Amino acid sequence: MKVGYVALVGRPNVGKSTLLNSLLGQKVAIISDKPQTTRISILGIKTTQQGQIIFIDNPGIHKPLHTLNKRMMSFVYSALETSDLICLLIDATQPYGHGDEFVVETLRKVTTPLFLLINKVDIIKKEKILLLIDKYKDLLDFKEIIPISALRGTNLDVLEKSIYHYLPEAEKLYDDETVTQLPLRFQLAEIIREKLLKRVEKELPFVTAVLVEKLEERGTGGTLGKNDQDALAQETSSQNSTPAPTATGFRFPEKPIKPGEKLEEEMEKKSRASRPDRASGQPAEGKKKKGKRKVVYLSATIFVERESHRKIVIGRRGQVIKMIGIEARREIETILGAKLFLDLKVKVKEKWRDSPEVLDLIEGQR
Ligand code: GDP
Ligand code: MG
Repeated sequence: MKVGYVALVGRPNVGKSTLLNSLLGQKVAIISDKPQTTRISILGIKTTQQGQIIFIDNPGIHKPLHTLNKRMMSFVYSALETSDLICLLIDATQPYGHGDEFVVETLRKVTTPLFLLINKVDIIKKEKILLLIDKYKDLLDFKEIIPISALRGTNLDVLEKSIYHYLPEAEKLYDDETVTQLPLRFQLAEIIREKLLKRVEKELPFVTAVLVEKLEERGTGGTLGKNDQDALAQETSSQNSTPAPTATGFRFPEKPIKPGEKLEEEMEKKSRASRPDRASGQPAEGKKKKGKRKVVYLSATIFVERESHRKIVIGRRGQVIKMIGIEARREIETILGAKLFLDLKVKVKEKWRDSPEVLDLIEGQR
């Protein structure tokens, strides 16, 4: 079968994460209309009859100023090195500019097969696509040029077929159920950040970060250990009928760890009580009573760089942070299948974007 890594790269905001989610048919990466939303490489694994494509969603290619951005770019470089195929995404609604030149220069150095994906064709005229093809076709040695709409799913079947053509014959690297390898804590922090990005503007998206400080199951007692988090992730999969992420750490590239049989047994036992009946989607017999729903406590810190930022994130009479909390709680409750107490704090941490300690903490959430 065909198995390989496919890097999704391009300028910030061209639709890489939207494409990743569309290809997988589920949300793995957060999306926003602000640039530089994705800060690390995110794997999205698609297993089909034909094989396994491991998509690597990446931060946007840009000239890095802060340590944060340098680290973001280092994720891009390692994805370029690791992949069997590179998909360069461009935003068809934007004119060719300096940012694009920088991208082209970055890609000139790689010898890996390259596709050009002209995205957002749902909102432009056909003639514009032809002009873009004309502009790009001689800039780099593209094996394929495919106009797509990540949002509407246009031409993604064509894309997938072409990708398989360029992947090597190999054994699967992940089991069929694995869709991503982001740890649960990181995913939850990202959901909070997504809701935050929706509510802030200007420089705020760049100067904010989210760190999950505490994740505890309350009621059954105790802090969630790694195995418990796996169990929560497992429940996620049963409730949304989507495969669970495995908590193997997000540092890329990393070998997947298959949960041992014993661990799986534990996860099964732990989640059985509140897991819905698979066939009917109803809670298991005898578990419908009020108060049986699992309660999870999550506290997270939103880092900002200045007091003025803190005021904006909190908002007048706390309205902004309240809305972020409401929206994040709604989504996290669905993911965890639990009632959530969400405690959000906003902390000023000057120059956190240049602090390796803070960046380690944020990137290392597991
Ligand atoms: P990334 O920074 O490259 O990962 O871009 P995102 O996936 O976060 O998307 C940036 C913005 O572009 C979001 O507002 C998306 O909704 C929008 N977007 C992405 N793909 C499409 C598309 O195919 N059509 C349209 N109209 N918008 C898109
Ligand atoms: Mg992104």
